[in-house]
Amino acid sequence: MVRSEQVHKSFGLVPVLNGIDLTVRHGEVFCLVGPSGSGKSTFLRCINHLEKINAGRLWVDGQLVGYRQKGDKLYEMKEREVAFQRRDIGMVFQRFNLFPHMTALENVMEAPMQVKGERKAAARARAEEMLTRVGLADRMKNYPAQLSGGQQQRVAIARALAMEPKLMLFDEPTSALDPELVGEVLDVMRGLAEEGMTMIVVTHEMGFAREVGDSLVFMDGGVVVESGHPREVLTNPRHERTQAFLSKVL
Ligand code: ATP
Ligand code: MG
Repeated sequence: MVRSEQVHKSFGLVPVLNGIDLTVRHGEVFCLVGPSGSGKSTFLRCINHLEKINAGRLWVDGQLVGYRQKGDKLYEMKEREVAFQRRDIGMVFQRFNLFPHMTALENVMEAPMQVKGERKAAARARAEEMLTRVGLADRMKNYPAQLSGGQQQRVAIARALAMEPKLMLFDEPTSALDPELVGEVLDVMRGLAEEGMTMIVVTHEMGFAREVGDSLVFMDGGVVVESGHPREVLTNPRHERTQAFLSKVL
């Protein structure tokens, strides 16, 4: 579903990604862990072309991200084509970024109507379905300020799901939450995983990675240091850097 080949990314002269190679299979829950500044968020942003890579190749669902290939030449996509490609990728951030002046229901209806031109009745029906799926059937008319952090994050997940994505990217979705609210968000993500959604999850929740993850990659300094099955990497890390990191977060 996602393939990254020697992806490099610098900001100015500062290299952040130094040749990322990885493959995320269809239906897989792929956990990405690593210290602050190791390039996890940057890599996620490259996957939906919010950041342009400097070298290497990235594919989502068999399609090059941000480029079209004709013969052996690559052409950069126009913003419209990039936007079209991005429709299939849902993203959930640490900060929920809901529209404060819209209810939960309106937040979830917005993108399908604006981006896909969906009719209001259809958008509403799906928004209701998605909010029910994340356990918020009784909160649809609430504004973000009237919801807890965990509820707001579940609205953000419902909003991403309403676009019917092929792939979901989560960037530390629970790290801004009070500890007692983390579980409800992880439960929703676990449900999604069970339904077969392909997910890339940047997280410090090693319990989640161990129980739900199919693969785990440890990144440091913009490279993949170690990867494998989460249980294997978490119980038996081979590299010193992985061991040092895990000893701090476990
Ligand atoms: P964290 O765990 O703290 O979220 P991360 O692994 O997600 O860290 P990134 O946010 O990808 O790390 O950042 C990697 C490096 O790239 C950092 O040194 C950061 O300062 C730098 N960086 C990220 N975005 C930009 C930008 N838009 N301009 C310049 N530098 C940036
Ligand atoms: Mg980050």
